[in-house]
Amino acid sequence: MKLTIGYLYGDLMNIYGDIGNIIALKKRLEWRGIEVEVRVKSQESRVNKGEIDLYFFGGGQDQQQTLVASDLESSGKGRIIKEEVERGVPLLSICGGYQLLGEYYKPHNSQKLPGVGIFPVYTEASHDRMIGNIVIDSMFNTLVGFENHSGKTYLKKGAIPLGMVKTGFGNNGSDKSEGCIYKNAIGCYMHGSLLPKNPKLADWLLEKALKVKYGKEVKLAVLDDELENKAQQIAVSRFG
Ligand code: GLN
Repeated sequence: MKLTIGYLYGDLMNIYGDIGNIIALKKRLEWRGIEVEVRVKSQESRVNKGEIDLYFFGGGQDQQQTLVASDLESSGKGRIIKEEVERGVPLLSICGGYQLLGEYYKPHNSQKLPGVGIFPVYTEASHDRMIGNIVIDSMFNTLVGFENHSGKTYLKKGAIPLGMVKTGFGNNGSDKSEGCIYKNAIGCYMHGSLLPKNPKLADWLLEKALKVKYGKEVKLAVLDDELENKAQQIAVSRFG
């Protein structure tokens, strides 16, 4: 078996160690003997239906987000990614990437940036800087990460949060929600990077990708996640 991971705007949207999520996904496949290819899909590249089995979209500052929002719309990549998510292709987006997959992102002192419309959410820059360790309760049990954003994301009617904040700010620092999940797509503010310390979520994304690509449930072999789980436990004990 083989999976192709699409690293959206990896040259522009990669802050606070978000590339660690790509590394975690790649290693967790290789450790199981599954072939993996990572393709950076940025301004000059096309995205074709059925080409990518799992999308990753990292964080970025307002300046890069402006460039990327425009390219997502003008190149048609946004529309294709949305259609792929609708058919169940998994996607993980963090912070700036997450913000561009909602209805819109309104940075400071500039026009609203159009979102791809995957998540029923919208984001507006605030004068608060939400920085620090974050711990949430979710369908994946505890998830830990690090957040650094001024954007406040609000869930629209019917939006399902990824989880509820135990420590930290989450979507907006007020309604205790963090992130959003829609079909097999996840958006959240959890840098860190997220997946190395949250192996259950990593494997959930991989199993969804295998199921969509091969049309059957694929149960991944169990890995020795002692270190990963210990890293999460230490983070929770310090911040949770
Ligand atoms: N520019 C966005 C904000 O500050 C996203 C930043 C990020 O990706 N960490 O909210």
